[in-house]
Amino acid sequence: HAKGRGKNRYFWFEASMENELRFRNELESGIRRGVTKGEFVPYYEQQVDIDTGEIVGFEMLARWNSPELGLVNPTVFIPVAEEIGLIATLSEQLIEQAFVDAKEWDPKLSLSVNISPVQLRDPWFSQKLLKLLVKHSFPPSRLEIEITESCIHENIGVVRSMITSLKNQGVHISLDDFGTGYASLAQLRSLPFDRLKIDRSFVGELNEKNASEKIVNAIISLGDGLEMPITAEGIEDTKILEALRGKGSMKGQGYHYGRPEDSEAVRRRLRAKGLLVVPAEAAQEDTG
Ligand code: C2E
Ligand code: MG
Ligand code: MG
Ligand code: MG
Repeated sequence: HAKGRGKNRYFWFEASMENELRFRNELESGIRRGVTKGEFVPYYEQQVDIDTGEIVGFEMLARWNSPELGLVNPTVFIPVAEEIGLIATLSEQLIEQAFVDAKEWDPKLSLSVNISPVQLRDPWFSQKLLKLLVKHSFPPSRLEIEITESCIHENIGVVRSMITSLKNQGVHISLDDFGTGYASLAQLRSLPFDRLKIDRSFVGELNEKNASEKIVNAIISLGDGLEMPITAEGIEDTKILEALRGKGSMKGQGYHYGRPEDSEAVRRRLRAKGLLVVPAEAAQEDTG
């Protein structure tokens, strides 16, 4: 019966490959259609000063509102969008929506956006971004670009000039998921990042694994030495927050503060805190 089982496995294998291919094709055409129909929406995750607990900004996280699949996470569609050459278009759509949303927020609140290595390879990227900033008269100093170590790895020369030109315009640059990639300390020293984001894989294990705590400490002192402030991502509970609080001032984000939410939920949250800029007409309606 060993032979029979082998045969079954073979058929199962073929069937699952076929399903995978079909799913992949549906994903591709779904993304193409989604881009033309505006199915991609920005969600926002709070970024908080861990000492005061006050909101200091939001990270925009892409979501796909697919009619067939429901709300899809970026880990599913970003790699496909990169492969089929739609990442830049998709990202620009989301950034424009985010500018519109964030202009309603208190101007002291920052907006972080994640940028794919594919976009960073485009020599016109910073020009394109500046055009969008101007179009929406969004202050560059409120914008923070998050890039991962894999960006640096690919072409440090291009990345350095890109970062420099963005920084000259007042945009801030963070190194995202720090500690999980391949950036060397020499590269870190030679690139003018404004901030290091400690990956949540280390933050999450802060109280469970001694090694993770040591890594978090090391990243914090590296940030100190290089004068790059720190954001800790993946703060899931009070215990993690308490452990971090003893380590100096930093920004934090994670499910402890709140899950990513849509622009309407952010608006409600900020309105309750008096952190919403009320347009003049609306204010008049309120009092009249
Ligand atoms: P990231 O930039 O490191 O974003 C953090 C991810 O961790 C988000 O997942 C967020 O929902 C999740 N997260 C936040 N706090 C917690 C926590 O306390 N616990 C746990 N377990 N998870 C937490 P999401 O939204 O699925 O995004 C995944 C990744 O997709 C992002 O990682 C980012 O690299 C990428 N991404 C998101 N939006 C965009 C985009 O517009 N463009 C590009 N190129 N990449 C994007
Ligand atoms: Mg990020
Ligand atoms: Mg991150
Ligand atoms: Mg991460």
